[in-house]
Amino acid sequence: MDLGLKGRSAIVCGASRGLGRACAESLAREGVNVVMAARRPDVLEQAAKEIRAATGAAIKTVPVDVTSPEGRAVLLSILPDPDILVTNAGGPPPGDFRDWDRAAWIKALDSNMLTPIELIKASVDAMIARRFGRIVNITSGAVKAPIDVLGLSNGARAGLTGFVAGLARKTVRHNVTINNLLPGPFDTDRIKAVMAGQAKAEGISLDEAMERRREANPAGRFGDPAEFGDACAFLCSAQAGFITGQNLLLDGGAFPGVL
Ligand code: NAP
Repeated sequence: MDLGLKGRSAIVCGASRGLGRACAESLAREGVNVVMAARRPDVLEQAAKEIRAATGAAIKTVPVDVTSPEGRAVLLSILPDPDILVTNAGGPPPGDFRDWDRAAWIKALDSNMLTPIELIKASVDAMIARRFGRIVNITSGAVKAPIDVLGLSNGARAGLTGFVAGLARKTVRHNVTINNLLPGPFDTDRIKAVMAGQAKAEGISLDEAMERRREANPAGRFGDPAEFGDACAFLCSAQAGFITGQNLLLDGGAFPGVL
């Protein structure tokens, strides 16, 4: 299936590793000119090199912290009017809400709610004017089934989800869609970091904790980031113009509800 994206441009945030990298690669394979952002220049450039080699696409890298206004300004100066925007940044740390002060909450809100909203604000009107735009926010399965130790994530992402639900119904008339992709457990550095904390708390090895988590999933495995990237590319496709305001779970069936 040709996704109708050849020659389009995209900003992909948090793109040097994991799910963001997979989104960048899937879009690049569809002929999208991708601008990849992440903080560490060496890791980012290496990822871009691999994606260029695999896809032949034109890839630019912008080593910035997307949660800072300065970082976003640099990113948007490289590609001011993207056709596609994939928002993403690291998830907040796990913990007990009694230990989180205002600064911890503001940091989580900045990363996982206000940064995506600022990036949407900067790009959505030009998308509307061009009558094409695809915005995908990488959020979390925790939006539908909150995880107790990830309260910072649960709270911040709920805010973004509510905001997007309103705006996505305003933009779709202009062929600009906004959707959220909700990962369950995917095989990335992030899940290893989260599971390391759990292994320590339970007094078991990281390998054992990972194996238990894999087994607990109905699919009996973690998701492959490439599966996530391809779902993102489809949501960005020309064919997906009637899908907006959705929260699409990719979790191997872990969420037990019907809807
Ligand atoms: P990951 O493997 O840790 O990768 C995170 C990526 O984002 C890296 O490229 C990282 O590069 C970049 N990044 C982090 N903070 C950034 C910042 N402030 N500015 C720019 N780039 C930044 O994480 P992942 O597993 O792909 O997860 C992506 C998102 O999905 C996270 O929000 C995570 O909480 C959520 N999620 C993941 C899972 C899972 O199982 N993997 C499950 C649920 C939710 P630098 O560090 O060099 O900046």
